[in-house]
Amino acid sequence: MSDALMNTYARLPVSFERGEGALLWDSEGNEYLDALGGIAVCGLGHAHPAVTRALCEQAGRLVHTSNLYGITRQAELAERLTRLAGMDRVFFSNSGAEANEAAIKLARLHGHNQGIETPTIVVTRGSFHGRTMATLTATGNDKIQQGFEPLLEGFVHVDYDDLEAIAEQAANPNVVAVMVEPITGEGGIRVPDENYLMGIRTLCDDNGWLMILDEIQTGMGRTGTMFACEQNGISPDVMTLAKGLGNGVPIGACLARGAAAEVLQAGKHGSTFGGNPLVCSAALAVIDTLEQDRLPARAAELGQRMLKGFAEALASIEAVQEIRGRGLMLGIQLDRPCGELVKQALQQGLLINVTAQSVVRLLPPLIITDAQADRIVEQVSGLIRDFVA
Ligand SMILES: *Cc1c(COP(=O)(O)O)cnc(C)c1O
Repeated sequence: MSDALMNTYARLPVSFERGEGALLWDSEGNEYLDALGGIAVCGLGHAHPAVTRALCEQAGRLVHTSNLYGITRQAELAERLTRLAGMDRVFFSNSGAEANEAAIKLARLHGHNQGIETPTIVVTRGSFHGRTMATLTATGNDKIQQGFEPLLEGFVHVDYDDLEAIAEQAANPNVVAVMVEPITGEGGIRVPDENYLMGIRTLCDDNGWLMILDEIQTGMGRTGTMFACEQNGISPDVMTLAKGLGNGVPIGACLARGAAAEVLQAGKHGSTFGGNPLVCSAALAVIDTLEQDRLPARAAELGQRMLKGFAEALASIEAVQEIRGRGLMLGIQLDRPCGELVKQALQQGLLINVTAQSVVRLLPPLIITDAQADRIVEQVSGLIRDFVA
């Protein structure tokens, strides 16, 4: 790798030149099956024709004008996305962290509008919300925060999947919002109790707090419905999206409904690039394809197939503590650190990830075939069996 790059990533020794669907080819022509999808980004796989067409057409017409003017494609995407998510308004950013920054600023402003001078957001340990100063403060992981102190004020951390701990915050008059992931991504694919999100919704309603749901990794069909919260029968006040929204072009979104949608006014927030014609045309093609090809339902079906496959293949392996997830957001919890598995899989032509040290994380494109899903199960199970033997 180039010495001209800052060492922010411990990169694997491979560079890809081309992709098609769930397959990638490296600079030597070796083929790989992608069970990570660029970290839950390429839900439609690589070089999807609808996205390619949208990008090429838009690039030949107009790429960027700034938010000082109307942007037709952005308005179109705003209509589609708010309708889809049951939200009223949206702000477009260039990344997940920036979408969360918008949500955090919105919550703080909402607090100030109510006369709360030190608005505080309840966040959870084991969460991941991004790498900017506010989002790394919100993130419940010491490793991501270390060396970047002083962190921001105005965040209280409680344990994930602990409703009682959030309820106790009712005694804190500065709380304005609760910010949470429906299923933790970087934190290890933790699926909370089925009443957790509903419980947070109720607490937010009872206390006048905003419920901010970070669906950056879970959204856009990943967990078997367009948004994970649909499966919990709730709707947050603020929802953030990024990753799968653009299938690889950088776009994030902070959606809000009701009073929360009216908080940010002209001059209060902005972005030079955010929601430009190019990225919005890609996101529109993503939504079209997810809907036309019924990919969220397909993700649910594939997820069931893979969970069942893993349960069978790993049944007798004691080192496997839990196999969990929803749709194509799957985690296999081992009883030991297993980062090594990533390299071993790569050598076998398979891209996987390990997060939270001991959780094998799979986030394949939603367009994989049954045979590709079965191959992932077989290969990953084989790797785990050999690793713990
Ligand atoms: C990836 C991720 C983010 C940060 O997104 P970036 O685009 O890397 O800034 C925030 N929240 C969750 C849940 C994520 O998975």
